[in-house]
Amino acid sequence: MRAVPAPLHLARYLSGMALALLAACIPSTTPPESDPLVVFTFDDAHHSVYEIAGPLMRSYDPSWGATHFFPLEYPGQPGLMTLAQVQEMEALGWETGGHGRTHENLSAVTMDQVRSDVAASDSFLRANGLSHESYAYAFGNYNDSVQAVVAEHFRNIRTSHDFKYLDGVNRLQLGAYDAKAGHTADDLIGRIEEARLAGSPLVIFCFHVIVPDTATPDVSHDWWTHESAFIGLLDYLRERGMEVMTVRAAMAELCQ
Ligand SMILES: [Zn+2]
Repeated sequence: MRAVPAPLHLARYLSGMALALLAACIPSTTPPESDPLVVFTFDDAHHSVYEIAGPLMRSYDPSWGATHFFPLEYPGQPGLMTLAQVQEMEALGWETGGHGRTHENLSAVTMDQVRSDVAASDSFLRANGLSHESYAYAFGNYNDSVQAVVAEHFRNIRTSHDFKYLDGVNRLQLGAYDAKAGHTADDLIGRIEEARLAGSPLVIFCFHVIVPDTATPDVSHDWWTHESAFIGLLDYLRERGMEVMTVRAAMAELCQ
């Protein structure tokens, strides 16, 4: 099935179901035991992405890229990347996407605020020369009305559900496997092996902070990944001859 992008001016009038049909990319035709496309996403623009993840990925393959999702008010805050660093990574092939204004829960604010905040993300990305095709909901929170507003501005939307895509890929309702503290390389690799065995066409990872194994992690939260686990995943992908790509690149392959 060919993808038919929803014209932006029509999107607001379409029901969630109609949006889903327009956004469907491929049916479930991937043969079992073939390799899925692998997408890395990094939420909130933590500095470790610039300092550790980006250089590591480039050392494996300069063509590997990932997608950053960050609220427009985050760059430059302590522990987070600066706007110049985000722009530098974009120039190296990374994609940037919207993630709200202040990491607000879009399903808990008025629709006027949803419209204002999503439009502000779009404008911010465009004004700063960044890509503006993809969006991830802060906290993974959304509803049909929120989805319709985001779809007026962005072509690809990542939720926090870990979809298996066995009925096809809907670019307006993508998923993510959340990499958490305590995950080993085998846990991360296992998600790809699961997709291979099932004939799933796509695996999207969601990372936040990459922590060197010698450092003391912040145990007040669980959204960090040990560097050794990340390296183990990269080793596996290189050994299998698989790529690491952005959301935008994966949708270009699956939705053509
Ligand atoms: Zn976030």
